[in-house]
Amino acid sequence: MNESVRGLILKQIDYRESDVILSVLTEEYGKLSFLAAGARKISSKNAGAIIPCTIAEIQFDWHMNRSVQRLKTARAKKMYPRIHRDLNASACAMMMAETADVMTLAEDELGTAEAEAQLLEKGWDALEAGHRGDLITALYLADMMKLFGIEPDVDECVRCGSLSVSAVSAEDGGFLCPDCAAKAGVQPLPAEQLRQFRLIVKAGLTHIDHVLEKTDGRFSGLGYLSAMIRLHAGVSLRSFDLVGRLFAIE
Ligand SMILES: [Zn+2]
Repeated sequence: MNESVRGLILKQIDYRESDVILSVLTEEYGKLSFLAAGARKISSKNAGAIIPCTIAEIQFDWHMNRSVQRLKTARAKKMYPRIHRDLNASACAMMMAETADVMTLAEDELGTAEAEAQLLEKGWDALEAGHRGDLITALYLADMMKLFGIEPDVDECVRCGSLSVSAVSAEDGGFLCPDCAAKAGVQPLPAEQLRQFRLIVKAGLTHIDHVLEKTDGRFSGLGYLSAMIRLHAGVSLRSFDLVGRLFAIE
């Protein structure tokens, strides 16, 4: 059956001589895999539309029993030229794409695909608009953690419930009070950074303008959030290391 879907290209894997297999996030079907035959040939009409960090309209043959669908044509809907030109922005866009790729279950078992697709598009849009990559990625990860019910606790000490907090612990998944931080051997953070971290976690991408206004341009909390998502969602990706190096994150 002939189908058409708008999807976010997450990943492209070379396959056979000139084909590629794509991982694509869609609102309607969740995550789909496509075989794009001949996409690596110079003559391919689809190649430009299926680059990772692009949004495309994909025509395909739907077969229920196939885990990889056959792509017929792909037309770019959003190209994100700035992201593809800029190393920092593209590293952040790929980190988001890989996170979505790993966290989204096939068949959309958790029913999160629609929200995830909208979230990732919002993140890419913000990068394309030229906002700070580390901050946008941190807001995106905070939103993803919320979607999967593993957001950091930034209202009290995770261990004892004390409202006096002094540190962030990736292992504990949130704030620690001075006593618990000392026991855990976690370094305290300046109060201003704790405040910013709480704001980033609470606000997410929806309130990006407010966050940009209230953060000082240095602290993004990305190191903590990527460590948490690695520890608590089991997402560990090479793109995390690249972003870490580019933004000199702890
Ligand atoms: Zn405590």
